[in-house]
Amino acid sequence: MAAIGLDMGGTKTAGLLLTANGEVVGSHTLPTPSREGPAAVLATLVLVTEHLLTQAKQLCMDVAAIGVGVPGLVSTSGQLCFAGHLGGEVGLDLAALLPARFMLPTVVDNDNTCAGYAEWTAGAGRGFDDVLYVGLGTGIGGGIISGGLVQRGANGFAGEVGHIVIDRNGELCTCGRRGCWELSASGTALGRQGEQAIVDGRWNAAAGLVRPVSGTDVMDQAALGVDPAVAVVETFAGHLAVGLVDLALVLDPGCIVLGGGVMTRAELLLPSVRQQFRLLLGDMASMRALPELRAAHFGPRSGAVGAALLALARVPR
Ligand SMILES: [Zn+2]
Repeated sequence: MAAIGLDMGGTKTAGLLLTANGEVVGSHTLPTPSREGPAAVLATLVLVTEHLLTQAKQLCMDVAAIGVGVPGLVSTSGQLCFAGHLGGEVGLDLAALLPARFMLPTVVDNDNTCAGYAEWTAGAGRGFDDVLYVGLGTGIGGGIISGGLVQRGANGFAGEVGHIVIDRNGELCTCGRRGCWELSASGTALGRQGEQAIVDGRWNAAAGLVRPVSGTDVMDQAALGVDPAVAVVETFAGHLAVGLVDLALVLDPGCIVLGGGVMTRAELLLPSVRQQFRLLLGDMASMRALPELRAAHFGPRSGAVGAALLALARVPR
């Protein structure tokens, strides 16, 4: 038995085939046509699924269910209502459309809730009852596990941690508000901070670095020991810690798992985040146990793995 896990990102739609034992035996990824509207986004999801169903057939595996992680507000009935990085209001009833197309039970959930589920049940947060997953990508998303239960809130919209406001007079966000956390601490934000360092003349960027630089570029340069990139990452770690401390005060997690592309260089980021997290907690740091801060075990696959695991969990055995 196997399940298909799909992670519909702002730039790519990644799918994988997961066995009931949690082993990834197939994968397929296509670019997400974010600017072409909901019908094109859905068509891409269908194409990736069809490809994975063919892979399953070749492996003589029965696909029992499909799980989809989507980047935005997902209602408790599985409708994708709003996705800032897919152009805003979407209104895709995936929980009805996909079963009608593939005749398979389908679970639709927020992509970071899926990632949090994967990390909690089989990854970096395993063994903890209270886990906060924070995905640093185009924006910032969150998955919350509290008291051993996945938290989705009254409407399914819990965990939109990227839109807590850090600076109410700050820049305009895709959500229509100003100064959201993801504007200073997402992977995109890290790239912008690197770009700004170049524009300001603080960083005389090396030849071969294609501009505008991405967050991953900045991490790669910092890994090479390029001083200005190291400084940009250090400042970025502070922006990240600001939001993490606020969330830790609300949720009191035993473990915070950080995922997303920039965490492929976790060894460069985590020590500084831990240090600044402790400093920002102030006097409270000595009065309480601090949460473990860890990098995602499944890396960029957390969302798709979690979607498949959530789908498998719903299949009667
Ligand atoms: Zn926002």
